[in-house]
Amino acid sequence: MTSGVGKIRPLVAGNWKMNGLKAGLREAEAVRDAVAGPLAGLAVDTLLAPPATLLMAMTTACSGGGLTFAGQDCHSNASGAHTGDVSAEMLKEAGATAVIVGHSERRADHAETDAVVRAKAEAAYRAGLIAIICVGETIGERKAGETLAVVARQLAQSVPEAATAANTVIAYEPVWAIGTGLTPSPGDVAEVHGAIRRDLTERFGANGHEMRLLYGGSVKPDNAKVLLAVDNVNGALVGGASLKASDFLAIVRAYES
Ligand code: PEP
Repeated sequence: MTSGVGKIRPLVAGNWKMNGLKAGLREAEAVRDAVAGPLAGLAVDTLLAPPATLLMAMTTACSGGGLTFAGQDCHSNASGAHTGDVSAEMLKEAGATAVIVGHSERRADHAETDAVVRAKAEAAYRAGLIAIICVGETIGERKAGETLAVVARQLAQSVPEAATAANTVIAYEPVWAIGTGLTPSPGDVAEVHGAIRRDLTERFGANGHEMRLLYGGSVKPDNAKVLLAVDNVNGALVGGASLKASDFLAIVRAYES
């Protein structure tokens, strides 16, 4: 993998979204078996983010082999009168080591602002979880030439001051590429990831220099190698293609030399 920042261990993370019943655990078990077996020597971390209902069952069934687990969202408070919500502490207790915050589907469907996303990332730190903070422009913003400005604003306002390379992962996910089969060109990904790296390094110094930057948006087995080879891309956040172990593992295998 090429990277402008030296040796950052990449991460391939799967976001199952609102998909997965108990039968789906078989897919997670297949990922665990491959990651603990034939792919154990690959220099890449792997993570699955199942729906909250499956998290505890998945961490119980699939732990111990290198595969790690995340929540898809958390409330900013540790507990309280927030019907239907899940706290970072609850995710931690269920076996998660990370939580996705600020996914564009949360920002759009639940009107989450940058301030809300930042509070959720701070909650992740409080609970001892890694915050996977998502940013990305809409198609209208891209067409208007606003991509870099939008992403810079989201980074400035969604990423807490306490962010470090150890507690934070940034996922650049152009909204128009999510679930559509469309992807930006490698050159476009390089431009945005380069800008993110510069912003983070300016703000966080060495921590910004070493923070993992994932690309997300229609990553599939057939485009993973090209996208993951882009400068400053330190892994992928994968939606649809993470639901089947064979597809997810084919993406992880993009790191085979
Ligand atoms: C996502 O939801 O984070 C995502 C990238 O989805 P997909 O891979 O299906 O585009």
